[in-house]
Amino acid sequence: MERVGFVGLGIMGAPMARNALKAGFPVTVTNRTPDRAKPFADAGATVVRTPREVAERSDLVVTMVTSSPDVEAVTFSPDGIAAGAHPGLLAIDMSTISPSASREIAKRAAASRPPFHTLDAPVSGGELGAIEARLAIMVGGDEADVKRAMPLFEALGKTIVHIGGHGAGQACKLANQIAVAINNLGVSEALVFAKAQGIDLERTRQVIAGGAGSSWAMQNYAPKMLAGDFRPGFMVDLQQKDLRLVLDNAYGDHVSLPGTALVHALYTALQRDGGGREGNHALLKVIERLSGQEARHGR
Ligand code: NAP
Repeated sequence: MERVGFVGLGIMGAPMARNALKAGFPVTVTNRTPDRAKPFADAGATVVRTPREVAERSDLVVTMVTSSPDVEAVTFSPDGIAAGAHPGLLAIDMSTISPSASREIAKRAAASRPPFHTLDAPVSGGELGAIEARLAIMVGGDEADVKRAMPLFEALGKTIVHIGGHGAGQACKLANQIAVAINNLGVSEALVFAKAQGIDLERTRQVIAGGAGSSWAMQNYAPKMLAGDFRPGFMVDLQQKDLRLVLDNAYGDHVSLPGTALVHALYTALQRDGGGREGNHALLKVIERLSGQEARHGR
């Protein structure tokens, strides 16, 4: 079995590393804040200090960090993955970053000494999808590398699709984020409207979730919204990072995305009011404020 490394043990990286362990891979992990990595020693992983040490001890290294500069840093800084590279190393970035950054990382890795291969393999399905190993994984890179990584992907997710060359996985993930953000707005508006109409919110949610108005957001976020539980699975600040990437790329391609631009502006209001570290379903609060209605159980 290939040896697997994880760099970044946050909301997503931690359960993904646990699932790799459960599937029987020998796993080495590191995290910038070392305390977050400590529990992995008891779970059977080797805990090391730097991404370089992870690369030295692994055949496949997964990065699950925040944004493009963070992936570049853990890959190419003096203590990064490239510094611990060996022939046959495959670096798989599963964070959501810019497609052009993924392409650039692939080029730099190929020119590195020793060279190593890369894949971009961002995911969708949220914290629960990561815990339950039900992620959708959208992959960019060479066919042979995708094939090689497949046993690991199958330990982490259920829907695994090779989209195209380097950066194609990230482009697909950004398309996914458009649908996620706009669905979230649809759910928020539906619940606030129902509240204003004076109808039962739970019954409304239940029947919409069984019909054409259903979505992942209706099924997973609406119950949390109604309960007033805005703890993050996916933080507003990360949602905004993704929507900025969408809008920057759309601008470059002269593509007009009015829905995405609107949701981005609404999230900006939420960030201004201190909600950046809340879950992205806290979008409900913005619609509530605009409408003077609180769509929560018992209010
Ligand atoms: P998170 O909980 O904030 O975790 C981020 C992780 O990255 C932490 O382990 C953090 O280390 C590490 N990190 C960030 N910058 C770093 C740097 N420069 N050097 C070293 N380590 C660094 O975020 P998350 O929710 O797991 O998200 C991770 C990625 O997955 C993001 O790209 C996000 O957009 C994407 N994603 C998230 C979800 C979701 O539902 N949460 C779903 C799909 C995709 P520290 O512990 O030291 O801060």
